[in-house]
Amino acid sequence: MFAITSQAQDSRARAGVISTPHGEIATPAFIPVGTRATVKAVLPETMADIGAQALLANAYHLYLQPGSDLIDEAGGLGAFMNWRGPTFTDSGGFQVLSLGAGFKKTLAMDAKGVTSDDVIADGKDRLAVVDDDGVTFKSHLDGSKHRFTPEVSMRIQHELGADIIFAFDELTTLMNTRGYQEASLERTQAWAVRCIAEHRRLTEERAGKPYQALFGVVQGAQYEDLRRKAARDLVATEVDGQGFDGFGIGGAIEKENLGTITAWVTDELPDDKPRHLLGIGEPEDLFAAIESGCDTFDCVNPSRVARTARLYAADGWFNLKVAAHKRSLEPVDAECDCYTCQHYTRAYLHHLYKTGEYLAATLGTIHNERFILRLVDRIRASLVDGTYADLKADFLGRYARS
Ligand SMILES: [Zn+2]
Repeated sequence: MFAITSQAQDSRARAGVISTPHGEIATPAFIPVGTRATVKAVLPETMADIGAQALLANAYHLYLQPGSDLIDEAGGLGAFMNWRGPTFTDSGGFQVLSLGAGFKKTLAMDAKGVTSDDVIADGKDRLAVVDDDGVTFKSHLDGSKHRFTPEVSMRIQHELGADIIFAFDELTTLMNTRGYQEASLERTQAWAVRCIAEHRRLTEERAGKPYQALFGVVQGAQYEDLRRKAARDLVATEVDGQGFDGFGIGGAIEKENLGTITAWVTDELPDDKPRHLLGIGEPEDLFAAIESGCDTFDCVNPSRVARTARLYAADGWFNLKVAAHKRSLEPVDAECDCYTCQHYTRAYLHHLYKTGEYLAATLGTIHNERFILRLVDRIRASLVDGTYADLKADFLGRYARS
């Protein structure tokens, strides 16, 4: 399902093509996130127009609402949301643990020097409990109780029908102790075997549906030996001769260590299978991820920050709501080729954001998603024609300066 078309000589960066039943993905590729089967405020047709090759949705959210059985009945995720291209779903592991346990909202993933295994955000009940068989959690929507196991995650993801799906894993944070990380990895590894077995069973049971590629997810937090071991174990994992079709790299990663940690992992992974870095998409992170040999990445940030008026530009991101833009008749980014920048001014978007108009989210998201997609397109082209180093120096020289 994956072919490398160009390999950099001075880094692990590579360009390639992932083939799926719903089309090809030229890599490196940024995969925009449509959490609930929609990239908020933007039509799927528009996402295709601005160059999105695939979209990623969240199994946890779609299981709770509207239900994966309904999406199955509608012909799968792509048909349900009128997206004809390839789709990804994550396993739900991140959400059942992050939303359920109250991580992230008030608990910094990169807090240093804290080693509690049981930190709960202030004012939040513990909503998720992990055991060796799976995770019991309460819905963040209505408090109802649910249980995810590797088998449940596979069933949900088969019903959603995405082209690329992920094994169910346990999310840890950098706050967890080394001992907890080790135990968690053993659990994730045992779940990996169960995911492949159930994936095989469901693939057979649902014969006639397009094949879904299953990616194992490498955890191990900030520990080199754990990351390497987790990767090696997943690569070696097979059930009746079937292993993972690709690999995801997950978990808490401090920004400054992103390239180092992903390089430990890709060092252990086979070259001929695709690698997806989960939850990464800020411009500076993309360069680090690509150089360490990651092929695809998803991130909700371009659309999430667009809704708060934070917009990307060649000279760095800025907040369009500040007064400086009130009378600016310039586009958001003079060098951007997106629909928003071709047709609208900063002053108009400033007005939309200040008055809370829905169109602000639409125009802002179109720009931010196109900015990231176009950056990755340019990186991919530079890997093929050998100009990557120049592009990186030019881009980051301007972007990071601001
Ligand atoms: Zn634009």
